[in-house]
Amino acid sequence: MRKLLLFIPLITGLLSLNAQTQYCGTLQAEEDMQWLRNHQQNYVPNEDNRGGTTYYIPVKVHVVGSDEGTGYYNLSYMYTQFCELNEHYAATGFQFYIYGDLDYIDNTDYYIHDWFDGEDMMDNNNVNDVVNIYFVSDPAGNCGYFSPSDDGVAVAKSCAMPGGTTIAHEFGHFFSLPHTFYGWEWGTPDDNDQEWVNGDNCNFTADGFCDTPPDYLPYRWNCPGPMQTDPNGETFYSDGTYYMSYSNDECTDKFSEEQQDAMRANLLGPRNDMLDFPAPTYVDITETPVLLAPEDMATNTYMNYTYIGWTAVEGATQYHLQLAYNSTFSAVAFDIVTTNNYYEARDLLGDKKYYWKVRPLAPLNTCEPTSVSRSFTTGNSFSAIAETTIFDHLTVFPNPAKAGGSVTLSYRSSVGFDGTAAILDITGKQISQQNIQVIGGAGSISVTLPEVAEGLYFIKLSDDNQSELIEFIVTQ
Ligand SMILES: [Zn+2]
Repeated sequence: MRKLLLFIPLITGLLSLNAQTQYCGTLQAEEDMQWLRNHQQNYVPNEDNRGGTTYYIPVKVHVVGSDEGTGYYNLSYMYTQFCELNEHYAATGFQFYIYGDLDYIDNTDYYIHDWFDGEDMMDNNNVNDVVNIYFVSDPAGNCGYFSPSDDGVAVAKSCAMPGGTTIAHEFGHFFSLPHTFYGWEWGTPDDNDQEWVNGDNCNFTADGFCDTPPDYLPYRWNCPGPMQTDPNGETFYSDGTYYMSYSNDECTDKFSEEQQDAMRANLLGPRNDMLDFPAPTYVDITETPVLLAPEDMATNTYMNYTYIGWTAVEGATQYHLQLAYNSTFSAVAFDIVTTNNYYEARDLLGDKKYYWKVRPLAPLNTCEPTSVSRSFTTGNSFSAIAETTIFDHLTVFPNPAKAGGSVTLSYRSSVGFDGTAAILDITGKQISQQNIQVIGGAGSISVTLPEVAEGLYFIKLSDDNQSELIEFIVTQ
């Protein structure tokens, strides 16, 4: 049904091809406006619906980069924006959560798209019955838009910085809301189609909500905006606190009660398929990850193998590990979302300083405090770990291990041999060594640990011809 309305955003696209960057490119579909007008005509405020129920709404996050896989939206900003989005919608009872894994898309035509490629992007990647949001570099010259024909939201990375309200605005469109200045997008409406200050025509002009006062400002403005005059000669100022106005983000902080009621009715009506997913649970995360390895300001870590570890946090289902080239984390090297409390970085640059930090996550927890940050600097050498084939299988436990204790290496080897097990620190310096005997088949070896400082260490297993490294963490 929605496909029939394909032509509407295309027309605006043609009109705006040469236009300067706009705030919002949304044009409500006639079908959606009819639903809203119908809702408004039959509207009875229902206090019982307000504030009592939480609605869990799945959001599929599409992170779009260039063909080369560059330019992705900074995930730290993404989690923070999610957290802020839920604050913006707190009064509605809407609780947005990230649905499934993040969807990374490498496509320059989507990353910087016109309306045609934007349609393509959503056609090819939308997930059914959830809110689809695409973070791109340039969504057809806008900060963001909701496309009714493709039923998705696209937002510019630069308009999705912490503190921004573009996502709240576009999701408002998604759930049926027009701009507070609806009708002014295409020039000055007839006098009878302009909302009056006295409220007499509020129900069938502009956005049709009587608790959003007149607003004739279809461009970005800073509050308080200019004085305006309605057709009756009454002067007024637009209320810039509404997310659905075009006032600057800092001015906005609310949806009106009628707007909230309309969004709830939209969710429970035409969009009720979204509520069929099992509700995620909020968990109380009280700890912040403690960073274990590499130790802060470690140097000479391997380019092809640097083990990054942190403490597991109770309640966390995932962790967001961010590696950046600068201490403000604006220049992101890697955004990693993992269920492990470690990450084996295998593709680092040589002689490069990396800053890193970890945020614990759970489906409804994107606001948890991030760990302190640390840094390490790679050397320009490679670990031998990927280059040996002595063992079919090799693990070390416990990991982390206690200084002064011992660890057990469990292995499977096709051949037996006599050799050595050496403990190395992160710089490759040998700390201790003992003789070992490896048997053909499955076996285990106990290795004694000296009293060493906390951090990342390696056990190097060698015979006369070759060696293998395995890493582990030592705590006190
Ligand atoms: Zn808009």
